[in-house]
Amino acid sequence: MNKDQIFTQLGLTDKELTGGNLKVFSPIDGTHLADVKTDSTASAKSKIAAAAEAFKAWRAVPAPRRGELVRLYGNILRENKEALGALVTLECGKIRQEGLGEVQEMIDICDFAVGLSRQIYGLTIASERPQHKMREIWQPLGPVGIISAFNFPVAVWAWNAALALVCGDSTIWKPSEKTPLTALACQKLFEKACAEFGPDAPENLSQILIGEKEIGEVLVDSASVPLISATGSCAMGRAVGPRVAKRFGRSILELGGNNAIIVAPSADLDLALQGIAFGAVGTCGQRCTTTRRLFVHEDVYDKLVPALQKAYERLPIGDPLDPKTLVGPLIDEQAYLAMEDALNHAQMEGGKITGGGRVLSNEFPSGYYVRPAIVEMPKGSNVQEETFAPILYIFKYKDLSDAIVRQNAVPQGLSSAIFTSDIREAETFTSESGSDCGIANVNIGTSGAEIGGAFGGEKETGGGRESGSDSWKAYMRRMTSTVNYGSALPLAQGIRFNLE
Ligand code: NAD
Repeated sequence: MNKDQIFTQLGLTDKELTGGNLKVFSPIDGTHLADVKTDSTASAKSKIAAAAEAFKAWRAVPAPRRGELVRLYGNILRENKEALGALVTLECGKIRQEGLGEVQEMIDICDFAVGLSRQIYGLTIASERPQHKMREIWQPLGPVGIISAFNFPVAVWAWNAALALVCGDSTIWKPSEKTPLTALACQKLFEKACAEFGPDAPENLSQILIGEKEIGEVLVDSASVPLISATGSCAMGRAVGPRVAKRFGRSILELGGNNAIIVAPSADLDLALQGIAFGAVGTCGQRCTTTRRLFVHEDVYDKLVPALQKAYERLPIGDPLDPKTLVGPLIDEQAYLAMEDALNHAQMEGGKITGGGRVLSNEFPSGYYVRPAIVEMPKGSNVQEETFAPILYIFKYKDLSDAIVRQNAVPQGLSSAIFTSDIREAETFTSESGSDCGIANVNIGTSGAEIGGAFGGEKETGGGRESGSDSWKAYMRRMTSTVNYGSALPLAQGIRFNLE
């Protein structure tokens, strides 16, 4: 499929692709893809107001019927998986398999949300008063603001939107300014689902705001938007969290990671090697869950590290549209410069680097392809910052308790893993004194989560949870209701308040 065929299949026309001031380039080779129109503060405010109107109608539609819209959307995604996956590759540079995987993740969360639409239930709680009943009722919350990052340009929106829609909320999405086309394509497909669904879906149920952070700020500051789900860097979360809190809004913050894998002496090293490689170089090191740090036990260090270095030498780097490629480009020059900076810094600290550096610059002068790097770090060191590039820092350890302490001794707390065949080590790692992250895996790497679990991390990763489990509760308003069906009015805690 070439780019014009992709655009046509997804319903993107000149109206979306031309005449705007946001230039979109493909990270594959720098091709100019489109000039997208951006929102102004005024147009953003009017879209938010329209979403608030849509909410009033949508909240009254029964939840299982709302699920039907999401079911239709999931089917449309199935029909357009190839094209949307290809657009993800074209616009953010991840390899075809990962582009398709992202769309599959959207389909999976739609399925989950359809089931959820018949399982939104609260508790009935024993009342201390006679002839009283107490229950918990989950109500739609309001318009949900979704801010997303460039590296998961469609899945993160779907995680939020599919749940929000079945919960009775309208949505307003501010995608990354680096990936507006995938967002516009999702919107086109959503409009198709609404048309099939019929008049129960109000106009403006799903809105898109295109622009840089200033447009995101309009959403963040709007009192009409009770929930902001924001995915991006810790710096973004540090700005957004307090702003939302200032107006007593709620936020789900899904921020940066600094994820580690521990390889114990009893680990299946072949398994570990595969898990580490996928985690460290997948999406060219640009996943929030990318493996950035590796703690290897001294007994297996000299076996694992050279094997890993060898595997890195053979990595196929290149055009992400080529099915043989495993490592595509970085998103832009800035990302490449950040990688160079981090490697220089590591060298100054005494790190021993293999790999790294720009490649394929003759073939793709405007594409930033790099060789993933391994850095063997000196004793006692650690890495506190997330550099959004394929750099794997390796540390040697002796005692598991020390490795866990060092793994946890960073500001972020997203994903972690241990490779071990020792049940004591595995259970210690997932115990209260083990990993302090939102995700703690055993014999699986740090990246590639399924939608069924709640996704998110602790500390500077923001504490948010989205996707599976009971994450849906964040998109609803919890109401406690007590009904008195007797003829007296006993007060709670036995308080007497008798009027003469
Ligand atoms: P970024 O922080 O530069 O931008 C993310 C989004 O936030 C963009 O849409 C941007 O326009 C918007 N934004 C930035 N500042 C804002 C502000 N003050 N107010 C409102 N909106 C604002 O991140 P990026 O470079 O696109 O993505 C990479 C980062 O995202 C990495 O740190 C990565 O770990 C993180 N990430 C986290 C998760 C997660 O689930 N935890 C998932 C994907 C990416």
